[in-house]
Amino acid sequence: MANSAPLRLLLDGSALVANWRWLAGLSGGAACGAAVKANGYGLGARAVVARLAQAGCRDFFVATWAEAAALGPLPAGARLAVLHGVRAEDMADAMASAARPVLNSASQVARWNAAGGGACDVMVDTGMNRLGLSLAEARSGLLDGLAIDTLMSHLACADEPGYPLNARQLAAFAALRAAVPARRYSLANSAGILLGTDYAFDLTRPGLALYGGLPVAGATGPSPVAAIEAQILQVRTVAAGESVGYGATWRAPGEARIAVLNLGYADGYLRRFAEGAFATAEGRALPLVGRVSMDLIAVDASGSDAGEGDWVRLGLDLPALAARSGLSQYEVLTGLNDRFERRWC
Ligand SMILES: *Cc1c(COP(=O)(O)O)cnc(C)c1O
Repeated sequence: MANSAPLRLLLDGSALVANWRWLAGLSGGAACGAAVKANGYGLGARAVVARLAQAGCRDFFVATWAEAAALGPLPAGARLAVLHGVRAEDMADAMASAARPVLNSASQVARWNAAGGGACDVMVDTGMNRLGLSLAEARSGLLDGLAIDTLMSHLACADEPGYPLNARQLAAFAALRAAVPARRYSLANSAGILLGTDYAFDLTRPGLALYGGLPVAGATGPSPVAAIEAQILQVRTVAAGESVGYGATWRAPGEARIAVLNLGYADGYLRRFAEGAFATAEGRALPLVGRVSMDLIAVDASGSDAGEGDWVRLGLDLPALAARSGLSQYEVLTGLNDRFERRWC
C-alpha cells in the first residue's frame, strides 16, 4: 500500500465539468476542448481527461510526447494533440502514437512530411512571437498536401480585452483561414473565449478556467476546483509575547493555541501566500502565523478544538493568491507538486 500522505488536494469533479460546460456554452457553435498540459495544470491530467471526456469533451492538448504517453489510452472518441510538435528526437514516439503533432516550424513540417506524415495540426504565429510558422511561411505553399486537422494560432493578450493586438491577431487568423485549407480552425484559450464567439472559430482550447482560474480580471468566474487539506502534526500552547517560526516574525498577543500543519513551500505553498491567509476547521478561520517553512506552517487555532491528526482546509483562491504573491494563477496551480495526494470527489 502507498504511504499515506499528510496533505492532499481535494478536487471537485462536478466543478470541473461545470466549468467546461460554461466554456462550451460561451464557445457558441464551436467545439470546446481542454488543455491538459503540465499534468492538467497540476490537478492530474488522467483524471481530468476521464471526467471531461465523460461530459462530452473530445479534444485534448498536452505539451510533449512524454505527457501524451503519461495519459495512457484515451477514452473512446477522445483526440489528443501535442503542442510542441516534433523534434527529431520525437519522431519514433510521434509515429507510434495516435496523438497528432502540432507542427510549429518549417523544419517540423519537413520532418513530418519526410516520415510520411498523416493527420497533423499546424500552429501559425499571428503576433505573439512564440511557437508557430510565420504568416508568410504558412502562405508560401509549404503546407500544400499536408493533412491538416486543426490550424491554430494563440492569443498573446486575451486577458486584456481592450488590447489592440487581440483584434489584429483575429484579423490575421481570419485571413489565414481563407488562404490555408484545414478541417478546423482554432484560436481561443480561456481568456479568448471570453472575448466573444468571433474568436471561437471551430474549436476552443481552454485550460486555466477549467481549473477554476479567472481568465480575465473582473469576469464572472468559473467555480473553484481545487482546495488544500493538510493534517495537523502537533498543537502547542504559546504564551503571550512568544514568537512562532523562522525569524520570530509573529508574536502571540496573548496565550495562543498553535497548530502546526504539514504544508510548506516545498509543496508549492509559497512564503508569499501567507499574508492574510487562513485555514478553516469546522467553519472556523485559523489565521496563518509566522513564516511558511519548507514543509510546515503554523495557524492560530485559539478558540478551536482542532487537534493533532485532524485535517484543516485551505482554499485555493487563485486570483487572491496570485495578487498576494505577484505570481500568475498558472504558476500558483502548477506549483502544487507531487507531495499532495490528489483526491477527487
Ligand atoms: C496552454 C495553452 C492553451 C490554454 O490556455 P489557458 O490560458 O490556460 O486557457 C491553449 N492553447 C495553447 C496553444 C496553449 O499553449
